[in-house]
Amino acid sequence: MYNFNIFFIFKNLKTEEYQLNVELTIVHLLKFKIPDTMLLQNRVNKKELKKRIQEETTERITVSFYRYVIIDNPQELRNQLFEQWNQLNVLGRIYVAREGINAQICVPKENWELFKEHLFSDPRFADMPFKIAVEDDGKSFYKLTIKVRPKIVADGLDDDAFDVTNVGKHLTAKEFNEAMEIPDTIVVDMRNHYESEVGRFTGAICPDADTFREELPIVLEELKDKKDHKILMYCTGGVRCEKASAYFKHHGFTDVNQLHGGIIDYVRQIKAEDLPSKFIGKNFVFDERVGERITEDVIAQCHQCGAVCDTHVNCANDDCHLLFIQCDACAPKMQGCCTPECMHIAALPVEEQRALRKGRKKEDSLSVYKSRLRPNLKDILAAK
Ligand SMILES: [Zn+2]
Ligand SMILES: [Zn+2]
Repeated sequence: MYNFNIFFIFKNLKTEEYQLNVELTIVHLLKFKIPDTMLLQNRVNKKELKKRIQEETTERITVSFYRYVIIDNPQELRNQLFEQWNQLNVLGRIYVAREGINAQICVPKENWELFKEHLFSDPRFADMPFKIAVEDDGKSFYKLTIKVRPKIVADGLDDDAFDVTNVGKHLTAKEFNEAMEIPDTIVVDMRNHYESEVGRFTGAICPDADTFREELPIVLEELKDKKDHKILMYCTGGVRCEKASAYFKHHGFTDVNQLHGGIIDYVRQIKAEDLPSKFIGKNFVFDERVGERITEDVIAQCHQCGAVCDTHVNCANDDCHLLFIQCDACAPKMQGCCTPECMHIAALPVEEQRALRKGRKKEDSLSVYKSRLRPNLKDILAAK
């Protein structure tokens, strides 16, 4: 409404550019008066958003989906989705690219049917298969983020160099379990180290990689003499295997199979069909839950003391935010931080923390340990 009035007042100004500038300035000044739903991005700070989601009483459904489909104008789609989904109070993280869409979101139960109707009405997304999270309190996300990216999964591959549609055979949970029993079958975890560290299929090869991009060449090298073996690959929701399986076939692997719908759907299927879980531990997920427990097995250790533990945390120093495993004993002792340096910074008043960040160059960053990369915290602490 404000927007319209201002536009009306200034519409007689001389140049269009000047008019636009004035308009934008005033919209900027009045931004707190514009309802959230009219904006194409979040304007509320993280703390407030987190508080809102914790206090919310709405029941939510946490769901993930992806599809490789040609999108001519990702930015336009992005804006359109943001507007629609923001109105439906959808939260989560979505990537839109020319090659498709990849989404992890939570939707209020009362808007679920409407959401599906919206999505399916676009022929590119008709009958989208959803993967619904099992262990879920609906508080997985606290804001809606939709990003336009060059790819929906950063794989570092040149898609023109091989046939991306020549994917592996999709296996159900039951088929995957059965195939695991066949001698000489090789199970490959296509996720990153920090994901397989807390949960994996028994006997799987878990490459020591921090990104999917890094992982593909590592796996290829490791399996170069096993091109005729039965390969079973899996990832969180199936999207990474779509690309990886085609890449492996391109490199001469003859029997490439992938877990359809990934671990998320595997878990749903084994529960529905009462099958044994050959996946042990936790399924790492990219949201506030960090991990979804699948079996009671705890297969990881605290990065600080080595105790049996599989709880991922982000370092409490906002500037560091390192993702690592911290046990219940180390958490209070380290005040949720990764190192004494971070403890020191996290304890400072917020303004001082900000001043510290401001006054230094990026390469001198106090966040020595980039998020998700792996310093040996145990050795670092022992050396103190
Ligand atoms: Zn510990
Ligand atoms: Zn830290």
